[in-house]
Amino acid sequence: MSNAIIKAPCVNLSNLEEIYIEMTAHNCNLSCKHCYIDFKDKKIKDYIPIEKVKQNLSLIDKNKLQYIHLTGAEPMLHPDFNHILRLCLKYSSVVIHTNAHNINDKKARFLRKVEEENNFGNEIIFMISIDHFIEKENDALRGRGSFRKALHAMQSLIKYDFNPIMSIVNHFDIDETELKEKFKALCSSFGFETTDINFKIIPLLDKNKMVEISKETNFDNLNLECLNSRTLTINGIFLCPLLSFDNRGKCGSDFGDFSKKSYVETPFCSQCISHNGFLFSFKNI
Ligand code: SF4
Repeated sequence: MSNAIIKAPCVNLSNLEEIYIEMTAHNCNLSCKHCYIDFKDKKIKDYIPIEKVKQNLSLIDKNKLQYIHLTGAEPMLHPDFNHILRLCLKYSSVVIHTNAHNINDKKARFLRKVEEENNFGNEIIFMISIDHFIEKENDALRGRGSFRKALHAMQSLIKYDFNPIMSIVNHFDIDETELKEKFKALCSSFGFETTDINFKIIPLLDKNKMVEISKETNFDNLNLECLNSRTLTINGIFLCPLLSFDNRGKCGSDFGDFSKKSYVETPFCSQCISHNGFLFSFKNI
């Protein structure tokens, strides 16, 4: 079997329905073994300025926008996190991709208030990173104490009527039905009754592995993030969060000037396509 894509396919953005905002590329309170981010230096103060977010949001068609995602590294470490969240809620519902270590009862109560105060009926949705239903296995991947912190955060969120989604990297390639059943039992043990919509299962990706894509693949029918979203970072606009560290993913300087075409040519792209995309969005749950 060849281990290269035959030619780099070109895909077109149809509508800008979702936006990912990389709040910081390098600041995180964990060091997960499988993270796609290359943490060369965690001390860089690379928080996206609120003015840059404001300026970019003013350039997009608000009517077509469905979700704004706040990503990182760890987005809740941004010193202006609350301001940016409030700003984004004026445009659409906001999805926070977090390890939830900064969420306790007080923070959950505050976030409930922030959601209720926005006059646009937009929601705050949490995607909480947790990778295994057994504490020891999870903490071996994500760091000691991370399992308990994620569980405590979920308890605080459900206390204030949020319905968190667990974002699970399926590190050990466990059967998905079994994985969900085990997580459902775990959540029930602390009074969180879940359904399938509470689980986003993501395959483990290898940034160096190119996989072969079938010649028959119809790219416009795939659920690729680059078909309906772009990622705003401190360095400009990128195709998707996975490619925000790769110049091949750069497509412009701001939302007033960016390319709608993209060549999906990286090893990440080949794996993303082979899994039918939507690695970050919860639309395909
Ligand atoms: S990784 Fe997936 S969503 Fe990102 S640019 Fe490549 S094909 Fe598109």
